[in-house]
Amino acid sequence: MTFDVTSHPEPTTEARRQQILADPGFGTNFTDHTAVIDWTQGAGWHGARVEPYGPITLDPAAAVLHYAQEIFEGMKAYRHANGGVHTFRPRENARRMNRSARRMAMPQLDEELFVQSLEALVGIDADWVPSGEGEALYLRPFMFSTEAFLGVRPAREFTYRVIASPAGNYFGGELKPVRIWVTRDFTRAAPGGTGDAKTGGNYAASLAAQAQATEKGCDQVLFLDPLHDNAIEELGGMNVFLVTADGRLITPELTGTILEGITRDSVIQLARDRGLQVEERRVTLDEWDRGVQDGTVTEVFACGTAAVITPIGELLDGDRTIASTGTGEVTQSIRAELLGIQTGTVADRHGWMHRLV
Ligand SMILES: *Cc1c(COP(=O)(O)O)cnc(C)c1O
Repeated sequence: MTFDVTSHPEPTTEARRQQILADPGFGTNFTDHTAVIDWTQGAGWHGARVEPYGPITLDPAAAVLHYAQEIFEGMKAYRHANGGVHTFRPRENARRMNRSARRMAMPQLDEELFVQSLEALVGIDADWVPSGEGEALYLRPFMFSTEAFLGVRPAREFTYRVIASPAGNYFGGELKPVRIWVTRDFTRAAPGGTGDAKTGGNYAASLAAQAQATEKGCDQVLFLDPLHDNAIEELGGMNVFLVTADGRLITPELTGTILEGITRDSVIQLARDRGLQVEERRVTLDEWDRGVQDGTVTEVFACGTAAVITPIGELLDGDRTIASTGTGEVTQSIRAELLGIQTGTVADRHGWMHRLV
């Protein structure tokens, strides 16, 4: 499928773009274009195009507004020293979007078409890719139901879009450990639910807990397992790893309530490459707490596309604070390697990078 291209009649001025790129922030500024593909039952995917970025006209009865049939992906494109713009493991995002689509009764999008949509958008908006350290063009593919119908069944019309936003360092400049709030009032996902689908509803359900975290002076929320309330699951949008003094990495196993992070998978691979033992299993809050206290757990970090790898410092559980582990060597070193691969300064031995432009 080829993408019809309609250029923005009044693109952002060079001066304004330079101003945005000088301090990109996260998720507030968007490039001049968007890639779009529509789906209708019977006809399948059609109308692939790149068009000017702007508001979407939607029928007030559009199913997404009522029943939240929506999924998304998140990835980053980096400018390399060779001038090319490269993204990280895009086919993994394509596969995950299709897994999310299956769970949410939405259509499958061909992996190749997914990658083509990124190439089409970044091709026209390549000047928006920042080149500062830790900076990237954040790509947000998403799909939602547009059919105007209030009956409850999978919709028969969808749109898939990609928008792009220049992104700075997610948690600000230096690698400072984040403070985490353990929620005891809310869970994020339940067995058989949608926890392993990247869907907006999971985020909507996490916001009350996130608001509590902010109130407690924390950056993020840690969700516990929905049935027993003592195994750790993940943060609202990042997976969690514990590092032990004897060189093991421990991360909660994927049981259907945790989102399968591509950063998580990559960290596991890089850790195994170094000869570190990785354990994907049930890990309780007690194990974390005891481990930090007796010195067997030396580092804890969270990982995801937006922040890549970020150390977890204090963990607040009610009135109790679980001792801080600070920024450890393993966290720093795996982060440096992963970022190096993504930004093109470390050899891409697993063939993870894909050149878009
Ligand atoms: C996207 C996401 C992650 C991280 O996935 P990456 O592919 O590493 O970006 C983790 N948890 C949730 C809930 C997510 O939505």
